[in-house]
This record gives sequence, structure tokens and C-alpha cells, in this order.
Amino acid sequence: MITIKNVKKIFPSKQGQLKAVDDVNVVINEGEIFGIIGYSGAGKSTLIRMLNGLEIPTEGSITVGKREISKIKGSELRKARQEISMIFQHFNLLWSRTVSENIAFPLEIAGVKGAERQKRVGELIKLVGLEGRENAYPSQLSGGQKQRVGIARALANNPKVLLCDEATSALDPQTTDSILDLLVDINKRLGLTIVLITHEMHVIRKICHRVAVMEGGRMVELGAVLDVFKNPQQPITKRFVQQVT
Ligand code: ATP
Ligand code: MG
Repeated sequence: MITIKNVKKIFPSKQGQLKAVDDVNVVINEGEIFGIIGYSGAGKSTLIRMLNGLEIPTEGSITVGKREISKIKGSELRKARQEISMIFQHFNLLWSRTVSENIAFPLEIAGVKGAERQKRVGELIKLVGLEGRENAYPSQLSGGQKQRVGIARALANNPKVLLCDEATSALDPQTTDSILDLLVDINKRLGLTIVLITHEMHVIRKICHRVAVMEGGRMVELGAVLDVFKNPQQPITKRFVQQVT
């Protein structure tokens, strides 16, 4: 379970201060696929980055499982991050390493040795459907395949939470659907909690259980996906719903 309580993130700016995230309160349940939607600059990435300690809240607290992530540092934070993985729009792969070597990387860091590491890499390759591409380099893969490597690498250390920041935004609609299917499969099979950022409402409709709408750093609407589609409250939410109906 993730508890976000009175969280603000203020960045210094030329105009003085910029409230990137402004008093957000929400509880994300274990095993849930939780979507966050909003236009550019709404504060989505800043919020998700605070969930794994890449940013520290200016105010408020964030608890993931038993750990108050917004308060820990150093080795304790590194350990926590093995349980809170992330995937990205541009995949962030290591370009000079093969598929297998990319997936092995977090295992090397975690100190998983030789044969055990190879076994785990094999399982992950199978899980994300990349059999036969083990020795390819990222530049030889399609966008969808690159994201599969990103997902396998993110799952290497058996995280409890997967954060997805626009993970399908660089992909065509068909490839997007196949990656979303994979995320649902992983969510069901591993019971993983998924927090997913997007600016596309069809992504929310396809896989999320609940959705939060962000505007100007605030969470202006929150509800079950079916309810929000049926009865959007805020003008911004209505605009998003219109994207797909
Ligand atoms: P997008 O859809 O474009 O990715 P977003 O919803 O993810 O947008 P954020 O990246 O969270 O938005 O940014 C929210 C606001 O905070 C923006 O105005 C941005 O310029 C500002 N911001 C984000 N990171 C920093 C930073 N490190 N320093 C200063 N300002 C920042
Ligand atoms: Mg962003």
C-alpha cells in the first residue's frame, strides 16, 4: 500500500516558487493498477518520482509498504528502490549491453551471482516474451521490444511496485496495446502494484482500476475508471473522456 499524505513539491523558479505538486492526498492499494492522467506540466512525473525517492517532497509524507520513503536515505533508500521499480518513455536501456546483459544489470548490483543470475534472466526473458533476442543490442530492437527489456529489467529484483512514466507514449497504438496487455498479465500473475502515468485516456480505460486527474499540481478528480468515464465531474476530466468516446 502506498500512502501519499499532504504532499507538496515546490521548485525554485524565476517567478519565485513553482508548486509542481500541490497538496496531494491518496492511498493506492496493493495489487491495484492506478492511473494518473494530466496535461504536460501537471506534476505527474514529479509525483511519481517522489514514490521512489528520486525527488523529496517539500512537505508531507509518502509511505510505501512499511517504509516512509520520503524520510530515508543512502543504503536504506537503495534497498527500498529494489522494491519500487520504474520504466520510462524512452526505455533508458544501456546501449552497449545486450538484452540479457541489460536485464542482468540490476541483479549484478544486487549481488546475485553467476548461475542464479542467468536463471533469473532466462525467466524474465520468457515472462516478457523476448525468447530468441537474448543477444541482440537495444538498437536492433523495435520500440515494443525495447520496452519489454525495460519491463524485464524493472522486474529483476522482484519489486512490489512498478512505476510507469509514459511507458507507451513512444509506441504505436498496436504496440501500446501489447505492452499494456503485458502489464496486466504481470499485475495478475505477480500481484504487483502498478502506478501508471499517461496523457491518453484509452490507456487508462484499457488497464487501470482507478484514475486520478492532475491539473496544476493538484489531484482534481479521483475515482474508479468506470465511474469516471460514466460521470466525469471536472471540465478537464470531461475533455479527457471525450478523447475516447
Ligand atoms: P509531462 O506530461 O510534460 O511529462 P508532467 O505532468 O510530468 O508533464 P512534471 O514534469 O512533473 O510534469 O513538471 C511539473 C512542473 O514542475 C513543470 O512546470 C516543470 O517545469 C516543473 N519541474 C519539474 N521538475 C523540475 C525541476 N527539477 N526543477 C524545476 N522545475 C521542475
Ligand atoms: Mg512527465
